[in-house]
Order: sequence, then C-alpha cells, then structure tokens
Amino acid sequence: MHRANAMPAGAPEVPVAIVGAGACGLTAAIVLRGAGIDCLLLERDASPSGSTALSSGFVPAPSTRVQRAAGVHDDTAERFAADIQAKAHGQAAAPLVRAYTEAIGPAIDALQARHGIVFELLDGFLYPGHTRHRMHTLRERTGAALMAALLAAAERAGATLLAHSLVRQLWVDGDDRVLGVGIERPDGVIEHVACRTLLLACNGYGGNATLVREHLPAFADAPFAGHRGNDGSALLWGRALGARLADLGAAQGHGSWAVPQGVLVTWALIMQGAIQVNRSGRRFHDETGGYSEAAAAVLAQPGGVAWNVFDQRLLALGREFPDFRDAEATGALRTADDVAALATLIGCDAAVLAATLRDTSLRAPYGAIQVTGALFHTQGGLDIDTDCRVLRDDGVPLPNLFAAGGAARGVSGTGIDGYLSGNGLLSALAGGWIAAHSIAKEFSA
Ligand SMILES: Cc1cc2nc3c(=O)[nH]c(=O)nc-3n(C[C@H](O)[C@H](O)[C@H](O)COP(=O)(O)OP(=O)(O)OC[C@H]3O[C@@H](n4cnc5c(N)ncnc54)[C@H](O)[C@@H]3O)c2cc1C
Repeated sequence: MHRANAMPAGAPEVPVAIVGAGACGLTAAIVLRGAGIDCLLLERDASPSGSTALSSGFVPAPSTRVQRAAGVHDDTAERFAADIQAKAHGQAAAPLVRAYTEAIGPAIDALQARHGIVFELLDGFLYPGHTRHRMHTLRERTGAALMAALLAAAERAGATLLAHSLVRQLWVDGDDRVLGVGIERPDGVIEHVACRTLLLACNGYGGNATLVREHLPAFADAPFAGHRGNDGSALLWGRALGARLADLGAAQGHGSWAVPQGVLVTWALIMQGAIQVNRSGRRFHDETGGYSEAAAAVLAQPGGVAWNVFDQRLLALGREFPDFRDAEATGALRTADDVAALATLIGCDAAVLAATLRDTSLRAPYGAIQVTGALFHTQGGLDIDTDCRVLRDDGVPLPNLFAAGGAARGVSGTGIDGYLSGNGLLSALAGGWIAAHSIAKEFSA
C-alpha cells in the first residue's frame, strides 16, 4: 500500500475501478454500466476465469421468476435467510444475510430479463440445508458457462476490461481515501490508474498458503481447488489500511475431491444415498451434514482419504452432472460386482464393509471413487456494511472503498461447518449487485 497525496502525474482517471473480473466484479460492472457509470475491470489473467469458472455455477435465490415458473411459490428471502443462519449456527452476519437474500432474487431476474442470461432451476434434489429448490444454473450446469455469460453481458453493457493487469498497490491518502491503484503489466512495468471509487472483487486467500496455515489449519496440507489468483490481496490491503477483518476461520471445503485425479465429484449422489467409508470400510461421519464439513472429516481419516460408494441407480444420477462425467473421464470411477471385490478395491476387510453396507439401501454392483477433502474458497475477509463499504476497525466505513464476493466476509459464520451450498456465488452476485447500486446512488447524489 502506498500513502500519498496524489497519484503520479499522467495517471488516467476512471470513475470506478474494479479489481477482479469474476462473478462479483462482472455483476458490479453490468449494474454500473446500466446506471451509465464508466468502470474499469482490472484482471490479472489474460482471460478472466476466477474461481467462478471452476465452480459448479449453482446460484441460490428465492422468489425469482424462474423459481415461480418451476412451481415453487412459497420461497422468500426470510426463508432463505433462516436456512443460511441454521447452517451457520446463527453466527452469520445478520445484516449481510438479510441484504444478500433480498438482493439475489432481483439480481437473477434482472440478469435474465435485461442481460440475456438464461437460468434454469435445479429441481432434481435439495442441497443440504436448503428447504426449497432455489439453485439457479445455466443449461450447461457449469461455472464456466456462468462466467462466459456474465463476461458477454458485461461486454454488451459497455464495461471496459483490462486483462494482464495484476493490481499490486493501493494508493491511499492521509484520510484513508483510495486515490488509485498500481498495476503490474506482463513486462513487469507498474502502471497507475486513478479512480474515484474502488471495488475489491478479487476473492479470498485460499491460494495463499501462509494465510491458510494461519487461519484454516485444518486445510494446511489439503489441495486448494480454487483459482490460483486468490492470493489474499484484499485481506493484506485491508490489514495495512486498518480495516476490520471478520470470519477468517470460515471457508467452503469439499469432502468429495477425487484423488489422485484432482476433480470434483458431485455431492448429489451422497444426498441421494451414497456413503463415504474410510480405508477400514467404516462410515465415519453423518454425510448429510454438508460437503464443507465433510472435507475436514475426510482429511482426518487414515491417509486423508475416503471412498464414495454408490450403486447403479446413483451412477445414473451422477452422469447427469458434468463434473461427474469429467471425473469418470479421468478414470476416477471404479466398479465392483460385489462386496468382496469392493473390499479388495478399498483395501479393507470384506466382513466390515459388508456390515457397513447392510445398513444402507445400496445394492451390487457398486461404483466407488477415492476422494479427499479440498479447500474450495475462503469465506472470511474484509468486514463490510450492507452497502458493501469496507469498515475500519472502529466500524466506520472507509471513504471510497467497497468490497464484495470472496474479498469480503461471507455469510457462513465462523467455521467450515457453517457453509450453506451456494453461499459463495450468493456473496459474489448479490455483493456485486449491492456494491454497484451503492456506488451508483453515491454518484447520483
Ligand atoms: C471447485 C469449486 C466449486 C464451486 N462451486 C460453487 C457452487 O456451485 N456454488 C457457489 O455458490 N459457489 C461455488 N464455489 C465458490 C465460488 O466459485 C466462489 O465463491 C465465487 O466464484 C467467488 O466469486 P468472486 O467473483 O468473488 O471471485 P473469482 O471468481 O475468483 O474472481 C476473482 C477475480 O479476481 C482476479 N484477481 C485476484 N487478485 C487480483 C489482483 N490483485 N489484481 C487483478 N485481478 C485479481 C482473479 O484472477 C479472478 O479472476 C465453488 C468453488 C470451487 C473452487
């Protein structure tokens, strides 16, 4: 961070600079352009992808047109908020939960009606902790498709994207007002851009091993499945600025990361009756609790691995999901005609495994995938108010700094067991939506 009275002479000025062109930054840019405000998206990669493109692309939202068209008429922001708090043991920041759950429905409706992003409702099964079918997804059911659609919509709206632009420095004056940023270009040269307002949409710190070790020790040696650019920049700038940090021990883990292939295996199978057994052939946790806390449970097993075990009915369900088909294509799926063959595959005692399976509805022949626990993204970060303004340690908002998505604190409480499926993209889309509306309101005042 640079303390200065002014930006270097000649630095171009934009009304709004946005660090990061993932779901959060792109949503904000779409809204800002809709309000007639110029914005510059600064993206470190040659082509934006972020964790958004790695995700499954499922966005939870209540009371949308898509949800109603699918026959779900009794979902509300209050119900969704209650589900979030139930999963987070009541520890999610209540004002933020309310703001996000109220904003995400209108955001999805507007992205569909005004920006041509066509959502469908995922109504085959309920994700753990959701009391209504409210997962919205594109036809492709991938985060890559969501990312491509948001990027195209932002371009159509007239947002300017500067790729190959790694923001290295925040320039801040003596009153903690952001003056602009220093950007490292591919040739190593630092260029400067002045801005009236800065939005941090550069996600969390999952790609920063030191910060993970410090705040999420359970994941110290776990694979990180998110985008490598999630290097904790926002958190480190926030620290230097005296910003308040919150919920740093919260994260989205996933207990179904195929090894050694390193691909996601959908949790849908588990929700429909698949089980996880360890190398002894025993179950070791309540799989219906959620895939995030399952990550820690799997990591605590011998070798840090487990086997997802399912049957032909569930295999057919899995094949409806692109991530499962990808996992199968990498050779992660193993099959066994009977318990004895499955025990040989897992390397456990057949009698123990038979006893485990006796208490389930699973029938031979079996499918099995070896998995570990992975860190998907962090849910702690800069504390923000309900306008997505970054707060100082004393609770007062910084003059012109906003943060949203994975750069800010999330709505998952304080641990890894508080993550409700979809909280990541909820924070990204609703946060980007709210931040942009707050900035637009300020600009029109
Ligand atoms: C495998 C996987 C599956 C997931 N599935 C789901 C799901 O189904 N539903 C859900 O809700 N969530 C899911 N998540 C979480 C979700 O992907 C994230 O919460 C969400 O994408 C965060 O969006 P974002 O815009 O904040 O960050 P990102 O999409 O990561 O975008 C941040 C951008 O900022 C850029 N950037 C970072 N630092 C800088 C810098 N200093 N200068 C310039 N650019 C920078 C990055 O390159 C990146 O493009 C999943 C995550 C993973 C890893």
